[in-house]
Amino acid sequence: MTIVSNIDFHCHTNASDGGLSPSELIDRAYGRGLNAIAITDHDLTAGVADAVQRAALLNAKLLNGDADAPVETYIKENAEVNGVDNGELHRAPSERTLIVIPGVEFSTTWYDEQIHIVGLGIDPNNDSLKELEAKLKFARTQRAVAIGEKLKRLGFDRPYERCCEQAREGASITRGNYARLIFQDGKAKSVDDAFHKFLRRGQDAYVKSVWGPIEETVEVIKAAGGIAVLAHPRRYKISNMRLRKLVYEFKKAGGEAIEVSSSQQRQLDRDYLVQLCHKYEMLASLGSDFHNEGFHRDLGQNIDLPSDVTPVWHSPILERYGMGANFKQRLVHITYKKEDATSAS
Ligand code: AMP
Ligand code: MN
Ligand code: MN
Ligand code: MN
Repeated sequence: MTIVSNIDFHCHTNASDGGLSPSELIDRAYGRGLNAIAITDHDLTAGVADAVQRAALLNAKLLNGDADAPVETYIKENAEVNGVDNGELHRAPSERTLIVIPGVEFSTTWYDEQIHIVGLGIDPNNDSLKELEAKLKFARTQRAVAIGEKLKRLGFDRPYERCCEQAREGASITRGNYARLIFQDGKAKSVDDAFHKFLRRGQDAYVKSVWGPIEETVEVIKAAGGIAVLAHPRRYKISNMRLRKLVYEFKKAGGEAIEVSSSQQRQLDRDYLVQLCHKYEMLASLGSDFHNEGFHRDLGQNIDLPSDVTPVWHSPILERYGMGANFKQRLVHITYKKEDATSAS
């Protein structure tokens, strides 16, 4: 069974390694019935303004009852809806408006481990934030060029240039961009396979990266008015004991939330993250980490928060965007017949 949530606080555009432009991503969010989305590109906020603008236009269309207002399209003909939490399946246009939360996903290094910290509700024009963005942009470009050179020696045609051409101007180029290129060139069976064959530690196109410390990153997010969220904690290859140390240090640095629910996460892992939320008194966030169509993750897909955690949107910071304690997560439970297994995964 697939569930689709109306809130998704982690996704990417072509301002970093996502496949869709900010406006296309927003269109997809309406199509998937979202009511709140955070744009969280790697190390920059360049995609936020276009997304906010697009949503303002489409919200106005919904509220005006325009004929070309967005429609929900995520329930396919061969799908069966098994239940809707908090509401009806068919909603009035005024219930389908979308809140866009300005966000970012910062790369940090913690004891040689690459740790991602999502900032929610940040002011993209804040000076400290812009300063950190500029610093990371420099480090990222150097590394992306170095990876490109390695791939070129391995026979790829203009890898760095082609990654830049595929992304938006000034984008953060990550290993995610390269993985897609390697897959497109037919040199790997999937994006994941491209990582295994070329990009991960120990492989031929790997280039080590050293990002900033957690403390500095959290400080910048807070200075920019945002909430620091520890992204996808179960994706790091660290033991439970190390993870507890990470959460402890993250909280000490001013971190306030944990991404408790991510797509493609086991129930067992989510349960453990719920425990950590209680132990360290953290707010709970959720995010699909959507990048591209067709890679088994989609906006709002299979992310939900249990009722015994405090959702991150209860924070006064997100109240400013019209969220707060009255904002309810709405889940649509769907089963697909076999022929549409890709959407169901
Ligand atoms: P970077 O920050 O340049 O090291 O790239 C990290 C990005 O690469 C992540 O945000 C993902 O989008 C992507 N990524 C990391 N590991 C994998 C993997 N095993 N398969 C597919 N994409 C991955
Ligand atoms: Mn990515
Ligand atoms: Mn990440
Ligand atoms: Mn991400």
